[in-house]
Order: sequence, then structure tokens, then C-alpha cells
Amino acid sequence: MAALLALAMIGRWVIMPALVEEERQLAVSELDRIERSLAQGQQSLLAHTRDWAHWDDSFGFVHDRHEAYSAANFSRDMFTEMNYQAMLFFRADGSLHWAAGIDPDSGRYTSCPGTADDCRWTLRVVTALQSALEQVPEEGMSLVITSPWPALVGVNRILPTSRTGPSAGWLAKVRLLDAQMEATLSEQTGLTILLDTLSMVSTEENTASLPPGSSRLEYTSDGEIAASRFLPSHQSDNMLWLSTRIPRDSFRARLQTFHYGLIWTGGLLLLVIIIVMFLLERMVLAPLRRFSRFTQLLHQSHSDRDIPAALQQRSDEIGTLSRDFQALLTYQRGQAAKLLELSRQDPLTGLANRRLYDERFSEAMCAEPSDNPKLSVLMLDIDHFKLYNDHYGHPTGDVCLMRLAACMEACLGGRGYLVARTGGEEFSALLPGTTLEDAVELGETLRAAILELALPHAASPTAQVVTASIGAATYGDSLSTPSDIMSAADQALYQAKASGRNRVVAHCPQALTRPVT
Ligand code: GH3
Ligand code: MG
Ligand code: MG
Repeated sequence: MAALLALAMIGRWVIMPALVEEERQLAVSELDRIERSLAQGQQSLLAHTRDWAHWDDSFGFVHDRHEAYSAANFSRDMFTEMNYQAMLFFRADGSLHWAAGIDPDSGRYTSCPGTADDCRWTLRVVTALQSALEQVPEEGMSLVITSPWPALVGVNRILPTSRTGPSAGWLAKVRLLDAQMEATLSEQTGLTILLDTLSMVSTEENTASLPPGSSRLEYTSDGEIAASRFLPSHQSDNMLWLSTRIPRDSFRARLQTFHYGLIWTGGLLLLVIIIVMFLLERMVLAPLRRFSRFTQLLHQSHSDRDIPAALQQRSDEIGTLSRDFQALLTYQRGQAAKLLELSRQDPLTGLANRRLYDERFSEAMCAEPSDNPKLSVLMLDIDHFKLYNDHYGHPTGDVCLMRLAACMEACLGGRGYLVARTGGEEFSALLPGTTLEDAVELGETLRAAILELALPHAASPTAQVVTASIGAATYGDSLSTPSDIMSAADQALYQAKASGRNRVVAHCPQALTRPVT
């Protein structure tokens, strides 16, 4: 959205002003073109004036009052053909020698000495020019006058054809800036041109903003630019006002092109954004959400599920992250399992501890068929172990415990039985699928194996070697919980101790107690 907004702002604050400025420049250059065309007209008029002024006949006409000159050279047709309004011959002292031309108001052709009578209509022009004659340079001078009518004037000194010697006076040719001139300029420039006089007096309040040569551009309601320029006039209280209308088609076409460009660019940008968002959602956000859901599930429910295969198989960074995370998870689970294992193991003997023994006992009870359960336990206690410690020292006592543990594991382990250290010098064996009778048999085997170890016990009143007493109990009608069975085994062990130690006693002692051999 920010990109689209930036695009619109660039259009509004950069491109639009540039287009408007370009159009303004175009209008100004069109006005320049019209002004150049007008200047060409002035130059042409001045050249014509020079032709006539530097001519022996004209020189003689002013100097010697050669009257036949006027009759031979001036005629209505000549003025009409050459598009001259008037020709004025001044003497060297600035007085008017001859005036000829067509009165623009009446359309009457006159040719007469001075401004008297028929040529009175030239009076104001003559007066206006007389003040400028002294400043006319060698090469002549072009003027714009605005009063009594807008016109171009070319003035040259009158000299012989050889252009030497003192001047006989001045020749001025006047060409009206009328509809015909407008048409000529329009034809040359291809623009509709209007020429008029702007009185500085009537627009005094605006003159500060209208210096000669300045341009004014206004937008008209019919979609054109009204461009005007104010040109200086010989009469300082007036200016020549030149105006034209410039169609804004080019501007509109550029604006439309720009709008199309803007719409296409905006549309393309939007499409790119949508595609990027789509790809981002599909390739990054959705997999990350899936990954995040998985970690939350892991955190909340301690699930043992692995990271989804689809995530791990990805070949991008998310795939790498998933695989690394899975490796970490596997490592952490292994460590947790080890910790759990350690928490269920007796550190001295490496056998299961009481906690694991109780867990397995409950599990074994649940697994046992209720109509014909076969689950027995043995409880083993080393005889006179306190005396052993006292005699051989505690560390040797530890070694003795380890030897007995290894012996028990060797006799019973590996058959689906669990041997655990359930007290200081007390061990228990969980024997699933074993009847009481078989349990007593196993107890006997174990007791014999301990005797075979022949660990010396010089302080024992029972034997010269380390011995153990064993109690056995089994799952039955009256013994239906692990606690019951273990209590029964404990009672049997007690009986074994009480009846002389180094023996196996079953919870049903009358049938299964065996004496020491
Ligand atoms: P009884 O034949 O009646 O079982 O006599 P006992 O001396 O074996 O029994 P008692 O309960 O009087 O003493 C048990 C001894 O076991 C006391 C204690 O020092 C020893 N013991 C318990 N745990 C350990 C152990 O981890 N290491 C060693 N070295 N001795 C232990
Ligand atoms: Mg004991
Ligand atoms: Mg003991």
C-alpha cells in the first residue's frame, strides 16, 4: 500500500508539475515564434524603407522638391499591393515634406505635401515619429506604434543611391497591424493570432505585473491556453498586446499516457505484492506456523511425536531448522530417558531401585490373568551384615553388596525377572509367570549361588561365609495387591531369619520351608 501511495504522490508532486511546466514552456515558445515572425515583418518593412530611402530620386524629391516623383511612384494600387498604410518623407529639419497613403478610417487614398487638408489623418503618426527621428541610426530603425492605430514603422535616413553625403531627411513607411497582418502571421505560425493595443493608463494597477516582453498564460474553460505577450511601443503610455490560443491536446495526451502508465504500474505492483504475499504465506509463514503449532503441542502435552516429515524434508532454511530441531529433540529425549533410567537405578549395584520395582510390580499385576495368576516374589536379606560391616569395614560391605547383586542378576536376570535393591542389604526379585513352588526353587538356587560365592564372614554366627535368608510369596486370593504380597514375603523372610537364617521360607511355611543344608 505504501508503494502505491508513493506512486500516486510521485505522480501528483513530481510528474504533474513537470507536465504543466513543459506545457507552459511550449506556450512561451509559441509566443516567441509569433514574436519572431512579427520581427521578420519589421525587418522586411525596414529593408523596403531602406530601398526607397537610399535612392537618388527620393533624395532629389525631398531636396529639390521634385514634384513628378510623387505622381510617378505613389498610387493606391502600390500601397495596397505593398501593404503600406502610409509613406512619410521628413526634411532634414524634421518637418514633414510629403505624406501619402490610405486613411484606415475612411479608406481614402491621399498624397499631399505636409499634413494639411487631405493628409490630416497622418498628423498623429507624424508627430509621434518626429520625436524619434534624431535617434535613427545609419542602418535605420524599426518601431511599433500603438496610436492612433497599432502599426509597424520602418525609418531610414534619405541618402543618394551612393549612400554618401549629408542626409536629405528621413523616410518612414507605416504598415498597419490589422486583420490582414494577423492573417499573415497566422499563416506563418499556424496559430490564431490577435493583435491589439493595451493602454497602460487604463490598466495602471496591472502594469507592475505586465512588464514589456512578459507573457501571460490563462487556462480557458474550453480546454485551451490563452497566451498573451506585451510588446513595447514607441508610445510609452501604450503596449502592443499579442495573443493566441494554444490547444492543450498534447498535454491531455501526455496526461492520459501518464495515467495509463500509473494504472499499469500500480496494477503490476499490486500483482507483484499479491504474488510475493502468496509465496511468503505458502513458503515461509504457513510452514513456520506449522512448526510453531508443533512446538506448542510439545510444550503443552509433552508429546513424543516427531516434527512432521514434510517440514524435515524441505530443502530450505525451514527444513534445516526442522532437522536441527528434531536432532535436538531426539538428543533431549535420549537424555531424559537416561535421567529416568538413572532415577530408577541403584547407583551402587546397578540394579533396579525400589521405585522401578514398584512400577514393574503394578504393571505385572495388571498383566496377570485374574483366574489363574502366576506371579511370585522373593525377598532376600543378607545375614548379619551389620557384623560384616563392623568386621570388614563399610567399603568391603559395599563390595559384598555388589558381588551379591551380580550373583542375583546372574541367577535370575535375563529370564524376564526383575531383580532390585529394595533396601540397604535387602533385595527383591519379581518373578512373573512363576508359581510359589517354582519361586522357592529359584530362591534355593539363589541361596546356593551365594554360598558358592564363599565370601568370608568371620563374624557371622550362622556360617563362615556370607549367607542370605529369603522369603517367598505369591499372588493369590488373599494376596491381591503388591503391598499384600510384599508384606507376605517380608513375613516369610522374618520366619526364615527367626528359624535360623540361610534358608528360604515361603509364605506358606509348613509346605515349603526348607532347612539349611
Ligand atoms: P540380620 O541377619 O538380622 O539381617 O542382621 P543384620 O545385621 O544384617 O541386620 P541389621 O538390620 O541389624 O543391619 C543391616 C546393616 O546393613 C546395617 C547397615 O550398616 C548395613 N548396610 C545397609 N546399607 C548398606 C550399604 O549400602 N553399605 C554397607 N556397607 N552396609 C550397609
Ligand atoms: Mg535387613
Ligand atoms: Mg540383614
